[in-house]
Amino acid sequence: MRASSDGINHAIERRGIMLVLSSPSGAGKSTISRLLLENVANIELSVSMTTRPRRGSEIDGIHYHFVSRREFERLRDSDALVEWAEVHGNLYGTPRDPLEGAMAAGRDMLFDIDWQGGRQLMDRARTDVVSVFILPPSMTELKERLRRRAEDTPEAIDRRLANALVEIPHWRDYDFVVVNDDLDRAFHQVEAILTAERLRRDRRPGLFDFEEKLLK
Ligand code: ADP
Ligand code: 5GP
Repeated sequence: MRASSDGINHAIERRGIMLVLSSPSGAGKSTISRLLLENVANIELSVSMTTRPRRGSEIDGIHYHFVSRREFERLRDSDALVEWAEVHGNLYGTPRDPLEGAMAAGRDMLFDIDWQGGRQLMDRARTDVVSVFILPPSMTELKERLRRRAEDTPEAIDRRLANALVEIPHWRDYDFVVVNDDLDRAFHQVEAILTAERLRRDRRPGLFDFEEKLLK
């Protein structure tokens, strides 16, 4: 994947990062994603396709591309998705074109996807993926957050809580684990992970040029 310039590093060329955030539903990954997109430069959201009905607060094309199951299956079967999975009874997938566009331009991309999608991206692009699993501080708080969000039916909330028991053990597959107790602290921890990963030597081929100029 091509290199980009990064304002924080004297415009030293570096490779784009695929930042994968996963968690059980309600642990706070959409909230942390939103804070990252609002506060950190040079990162954009991968907008997923889903067959889930749109929530009142969501905008088509911004939070998700809402499609019928038929349309989703057509896209999946024509290889337009880099990964996909069934989660809580709905289909979700990452469109290929925006990812390839961002990577070709050397921009970082944020993925709010489940552990099945995270695994597929890690299998395909291990060195470009940085993965973070967000855990809730307790199951009682997870339930409260899903209730307070008030975006899903009681049945959908029960289903999400039951799925959390299957999802939580997948923290083991991730590079980093953040417990989202205090939101501000959790956000700063994810931000710190991104900053450190951007500074990794092996992502910064531009250091050779930088050194040459430095020593001239
Ligand atoms: P997810 O994307 O993981 O399903 P959300 O980001 O939608 O979860 O968060 C679920 C609910 O919990 C939202 O109403 C959000 O405002 C709230 N929330 C997120 N993080 C915290 C936190 N640290 N403390 C209290 N409430 C939080
Ligand atoms: P929600 O319905 O709460 O928006 O999302 C449900 C779950 O699906 C979350 O774990 C979310 O991260 C995941 N998800 C969203 N988009 C994708 C995607 O494109 N691929 C995969 N594998 N999971 C996704």
